[in-house]
Amino acid sequence: TYIIAEPCVDVKDKACIEECPVDCIYEGGRMLYIHPDECVDCGACEPVCPVEAIFYEDDTPDQWSGYVNANVDFFDEL
Ligand code: SF4
Repeated sequence: TYIIAEPCVDVKDKACIEECPVDCIYEGGRMLYIHPDECVDCGACEPVCPVEAIFYEDDTPDQWSGYVNANVDFFDEL
């Protein structure tokens, strides 16, 4: 799955939502989140993010590794 990390916080540009073919990007309080079970790993969202907040989970920079779980937890708590 792809995940969204810290650069999205308080930005929520939403260009990614327009690109996602399966509509699996959802708006939270301060950022957007990708549903890990719905994402089909197409990668369409990654290049359109103006703040480069989107990563394939295994390529997430170390300083934002906590955001991998944050994307999962967001949907667990809904
Ligand atoms: Fe949607 Fe594709 Fe991005 Fe997954 S990788 S969130 S399916 S646009």
